Amino acid sequence: MEKAKLIIKKMAARGLTSCKKVGNVHTLSRVILGIAIVMVLIAVGVVCFYKPAREAVFSSEVHTVVDVKSGDTLSKILGEQGFSIQDINAISKNLKKDADFVTLRAGRDKFDFVRESENAPISKIVIENGPWNKIEIDCGTPDTWQCQKIEIARDTRVAYKQGEIANGSSFYLSAMDAGIPEGIILDVYDLLAFEMDFERDIRAGQKFYVLYEENFASDKKVDNGHVLAVSFDALRGNVQMYRYVKPDGKSGYYDANGNGAIKSLKRTPINNAKITSKFSGGRKHPVLGFTRAHKGVDFRAPTGTPIPAAGSGRVIARSFNRGHGNFVKIRHNGTFETLYAHMSKFAKGVNVGTVVRQGQIIGYSGSTGLSTGPHLHYEVIKNGVHVNPMTVKLPAIDNLDATNKKMFMERKALIDSTIKSLADNPNQVVRLDGDEKIQKK
Ligand SMILES: [Zn+2]
Repeated sequence: MEKAKLIIKKMAARGLTSCKKVGNVHTLSRVILGIAIVMVLIAVGVVCFYKPAREAVFSSEVHTVVDVKSGDTLSKILGEQGFSIQDINAISKNLKKDADFVTLRAGRDKFDFVRESENAPISKIVIENGPWNKIEIDCGTPDTWQCQKIEIARDTRVAYKQGEIANGSSFYLSAMDAGIPEGIILDVYDLLAFEMDFERDIRAGQKFYVLYEENFASDKKVDNGHVLAVSFDALRGNVQMYRYVKPDGKSGYYDANGNGAIKSLKRTPINNAKITSKFSGGRKHPVLGFTRAHKGVDFRAPTGTPIPAAGSGRVIARSFNRGHGNFVKIRHNGTFETLYAHMSKFAKGVNVGTVVRQGQIIGYSGSTGLSTGPHLHYEVIKNGVHVNPMTVKLPAIDNLDATNKKMFMERKALIDSTIKSLADNPNQVVRLDGDEKIQKK
């Protein structure tokens, strides 16, 4: 009873405009109800005096929902609801500290301001911060706004979709026809970018499939997760990739044998070859009038040294010119091309249009064209611009150690059996046990 009196005193002292609530709803309800009963016992007339409080107890909550719009900030939204600078600062501080709150996004997030009754001050704020984050902010004793992150249970299921390139169609349209969501199609593009050229390497009849995650909350689909496996009948053979998460939480895609599947370019096509001339993006000299730029890197390579393709792709030039001598140019994906110059001869079977794998020999070093001695002049062209092969940002090639490879093979077996099961019976709900719960960025 002493405690209840103290709380009432505190409430009276604060009035309606400062801190909005004491304790949780149930404690407050019980306390006020208890006081009301005592008052009834003392004098019926006094009950009238406490009538507003009784109304607050028995009426339902009032919600004011605010959708986050472009340009909105936490301060702006709270300010519009009448919060003081001090309260806004306290809420902002506690949101970061206790709820890992980072940022609001327009069109996605919303605020729910809760009042005990129509004219009562705000006692609780619920922020829906993305589909998987809900934060509750409760008004405590003056100047304490307790924030709490509410975990929304994520039910991750897997979906399997298969398709085939239709006559005259693109991969994108054929994948849409197969029912693959757009975001997943774009992920597949990224995964296969170094394996195939989606403009030139697409043929009718090529088969593909994707196994991917779908995230549900209370049986309602919220979003898609990761691509777990992808297969594509590319021109140079079937390409398969499996997602695997290492015990340290790092994830990657690997081929059926557990080798890093994300292909890249080798900065040094010939292993251990010594650089004899560096890349330099120098501009045209203003006085002398000639360009001092060296658009590639030169590697020491005695005549006849086999030159491997730096990455898989399609040969788009196999020619001779005065500067480059015999040269080969390979288009790797929509972004990268590489060029190999001064060759003494081309490798057999390498012509314009030939699809080559990473490491495949495309020619032999020499000193043809403008060259002072046998070497490989190697260029990397990114989006039409020559870049430094030694420093350009490239996807990392990642191979698994023995322990991880063993675990990967187990994971792969599980994914393969899941694919088979879903192909046989597409309507079943399948979850992969032990899959990690890391949120997709
Ligand atoms: Zn050079």
